[in-house]
Amino acid sequence: MDHRELIENVRSAIAASKDGVAALCLVRLDRLAQINELIGYESAGLLLEEFKDRLQSMVRRNDALLVMDAHKMVLIIHGLANEQHLALAANKLERLFDTPIEVINDQVKVSVHAGFVMAGNATAEDLLRRAESALRQAQQSRRAWVVADSSTALGEGMDWAFSQEMESALAEGEFTLFHQPKCHAAYHTIVGAEALIRWHSAKHGIVPPDQFIPCAERSGLIAPLSWFVLKAALAQCRTWPQDVGVAVNIAPVLLDGEELSQVTRDALAIFDVAPSRLTLEVTEGGIARNRDHAFALLTAMRERGVRVSIDDFGTGYSSFSHFRDIPADELKIDRSFVSRMRKSPADARIVKSIIDLAHNFALKVVAEGVEDEETADHLQHLGCDYLQGYWLAKPMSGPDFGSWLGRKLGPNRATD
Ligand code: C2E
Ligand code: CA
Ligand code: CA
Repeated sequence: MDHRELIENVRSAIAASKDGVAALCLVRLDRLAQINELIGYESAGLLLEEFKDRLQSMVRRNDALLVMDAHKMVLIIHGLANEQHLALAANKLERLFDTPIEVINDQVKVSVHAGFVMAGNATAEDLLRRAESALRQAQQSRRAWVVADSSTALGEGMDWAFSQEMESALAEGEFTLFHQPKCHAAYHTIVGAEALIRWHSAKHGIVPPDQFIPCAERSGLIAPLSWFVLKAALAQCRTWPQDVGVAVNIAPVLLDGEELSQVTRDALAIFDVAPSRLTLEVTEGGIARNRDHAFALLTAMRERGVRVSIDDFGTGYSSFSHFRDIPADELKIDRSFVSRMRKSPADARIVKSIIDLAHNFALKVVAEGVEDEETADHLQHLGCDYLQGYWLAKPMSGPDFGSWLGRKLGPNRATD
């Protein structure tokens, strides 16, 4: 469900309240990425179904259960007159996941966190934001659920504490890189890997990037964190064969200053990696926020031989006028289109037009989130240049990726 649709549904679910007292609860299934890795995609799909079903069992006549994304659901509960009522509902929710979920050959004990907010007169968008904040607070304080209060509005205090933790984690070496390979769409030869950051937190366990990158961006920690990623990625790329490159994600704020250019130049020199082996993945939104500066910066990088890729393409600001002189070598079609193309002809058509558009502007195309052979074949047929996704391989730790490459390339090609 897209965000606007979700807001609309929240609005009407709350409006359906007979007595005017409703609460919104945002429930998140923990560690979905790890569960996926552990039990595989098929089982994880069943597990997600059961996650939904158990939540559905809490839904009474006027209540509503809405999907936010794969592992996040929004519950609108009516008739919760006070915080005691809410606490009862929260405890019930927690107990729903006491028994493990059975999937193909496994029993998986899952845990959830929840953020509650009383509806009052706030707008649906505000409620979702405050519930997100409360949810994050719950995750960070290791409580199963937290009820938003007026100080939860933007969660700045909590952000600060979290960013402090990240800062010490960086100093203590709790961040590492995983690598996910990309292959040529027709020959399936390995052309490179995307570096994806992982936080192995002593306190929180494995924290996925989408849970800490936004906070790092707000607190300014994104810069040192990204310089770590850039250096670690090049240090590892250096040990791979010459024709295997590395792609690094670049947060929008890093396109504002000059530091990205300096750090990249120094790191390429220190690790002695050819600039053409490095791809910077930037988003359309990142370029659009300070267009002239971003264009100049990326153009200069490309003149030095570094590749530029437009990540998550199709989700943002796409406009034809943008395209004429966009300083990029590659487009990465967002995985939301790719994952749906098998079942949805409309998405397949979007993918086809993105490929054609990119080729008209001499850009290479990567499809990300390719999960099955049928999609891989279809993309190759549509002329897509490179493929990335679970179909080829999941993101792997540095050592695992090294051995994987070795197996793929044969004994004499593991390093050059
Ligand atoms: P992204 O750049 O779109 O990265 C791809 C994400 O899709 C990764 O999630 C990857 O594990 C996942 N993925 C890959 N193949 C498949 C597939 O076949 N199916 C599905 N469903 N997912 C697939 P991950 O590693 O959790 O990263 C999430 C996001 O966090 C990234 O999205 C990126 O925006 C951000 N991120 C990760 N590392 C960094 C970093 O070093 N710096 C910055 N600024 N952002 C990062
Ligand atoms: Ca990316
Ligand atoms: Ca992406």
